[in-house]
Amino acid sequence: MKTLDQIRLDTPFSRISPLLTRPVQPQPLVNPHVAAFSASAASLLDLDPCEITAAGLVKAFATDQLLVGSEPVATVYSGHQFGGYTPQLGDGRALLLGEYENRLGERWEIQLKGSGKTPYSRHGDGRAVMRSTIREYLASEAMAALNVPTTRALCLFGSETPVARESIEMGALLVRLSPSHIRFGHFEYLYYTRQHEALPLLADFLIRRFYPQVAGDADPYGALFEQMVERTARLVAHWQVVGFAHGVLNTDNMSAIGVTLDYGPYGFLDQYHPGFIPNTSDTTGRYAFAAQPNVVLWNCVALAQVFTALTSRERLEQALSRYEPAFQRTYAELMAARCGLPFSNGVTERTRDEQTATLIRELLALMEQHKADYTLTFRALVDAAEQDSLEPLQAQLPAAELADWFQRYRAHQGGDAQLRALMARSNPRLQLRNYLAQLAIEAAEQSDYSVLDGLMGALRTPMAVLSDNQQHFAAPPPQWGCNLNLSCSS
Ligand code: AMP
Ligand code: MG
Repeated sequence: MKTLDQIRLDTPFSRISPLLTRPVQPQPLVNPHVAAFSASAASLLDLDPCEITAAGLVKAFATDQLLVGSEPVATVYSGHQFGGYTPQLGDGRALLLGEYENRLGERWEIQLKGSGKTPYSRHGDGRAVMRSTIREYLASEAMAALNVPTTRALCLFGSETPVARESIEMGALLVRLSPSHIRFGHFEYLYYTRQHEALPLLADFLIRRFYPQVAGDADPYGALFEQMVERTARLVAHWQVVGFAHGVLNTDNMSAIGVTLDYGPYGFLDQYHPGFIPNTSDTTGRYAFAAQPNVVLWNCVALAQVFTALTSRERLEQALSRYEPAFQRTYAELMAARCGLPFSNGVTERTRDEQTATLIRELLALMEQHKADYTLTFRALVDAAEQDSLEPLQAQLPAAELADWFQRYRAHQGGDAQLRALMARSNPRLQLRNYLAQLAIEAAEQSDYSVLDGLMGALRTPMAVLSDNQQHFAAPPPQWGCNLNLSCSS
């Protein structure tokens, strides 16, 4: 175990190519204070949570005294935003401090988000506000607890720095961790600025670090692209199963290593509504919940254009054809687990898998029709299976319409205790609903971080029985919390 003073960073991303980074010093916030801290994320940096103090966190991340070895840089990327190409984006308010290798040999990059202007800030102020920072903190850590690949959040700070948005808000800072922050957009930047000589350098770095299995391939870049496509497809399958809508699936928000990246106006499903659009700036529903698998494939096609500089079109087409099966396989497997139904990946029991898929489809159709709550319905199904009774589901779905389905469901599950145990550990008892994040934000804006802390505590073990004072976090949204307005402003 280490203390913050003993953390030593390396800066391998900066060595890939000078084309991708610019040195930038963080601009400290006025009177920063710790608003939240994740002990679970701290363990990724070998930090002993008991040794960590608020003053230590402030010193390490919110002043101009940098961690040993840190050489902060902003990175440049571009991307397709809502379908149109934007030639230059980049870390407009983020800084990469460096990378830490932990005692398990895992490497974690540390980024500050909200640390001031960079060469890529365009018209922005380089700052982040409390509400968006809290939302990113909560979502990163909640998704990790649901075993969804994601960036992590170590801590967040509030401050006395005023930040102008629609009104004046409190400047905040997030410390984000990820094995890598490389985006599709980093590749797109090099490709569209015709700096193709640097593309193999970026690709080789990814292969060395994250896709070593393709290093010996006769066409390593084709194989790399294929692996990226498959990883991305599996990530989206996780989102569709947990009921997560990212909100802004531009290619600059797509991770090259298949983790959820850049939490902005995202939303988790309350009622099961496939057309759910979390982001009010998304007027056409390009990034609606049910559109995600297709639009992410679109993003992979955009990345394929870059890879035409590295491999053949035939190889890229072949790689893209792996998206759909990878998505379907992961989705079917994870969804079968949520429902406690058998799944063998078509290997031995194709008919049985098809019956599982049919039952899942039928359940989702009923849920959509009756506006059933996504999280609570699956949780009720756990109880219904356990009790061999429709009763627990009745708060969500009418018994008359469910009876036939439930009979076939029971028969297909066959009273299998292992499947029931699997579904019990695959279904959260609470979800990071928008209204819960909103309650945490409103309290934090009054300098009360207890709601944030309590909510995060419950989200850390989402499958566990809730204590008496956590019960209220499982409730569906009250009227005011059903259609909260979330835009790209952050
Ligand atoms: P996002 O919508 O957060 O993914 O950001 C899109 C782009 O705008 C990225 O290049 C960000 O770095 C940049 N950006 C967002 N907010 C700010 C800000 N307040 N100051 C500077 N750049 C920003
Ligand atoms: Mg972004």
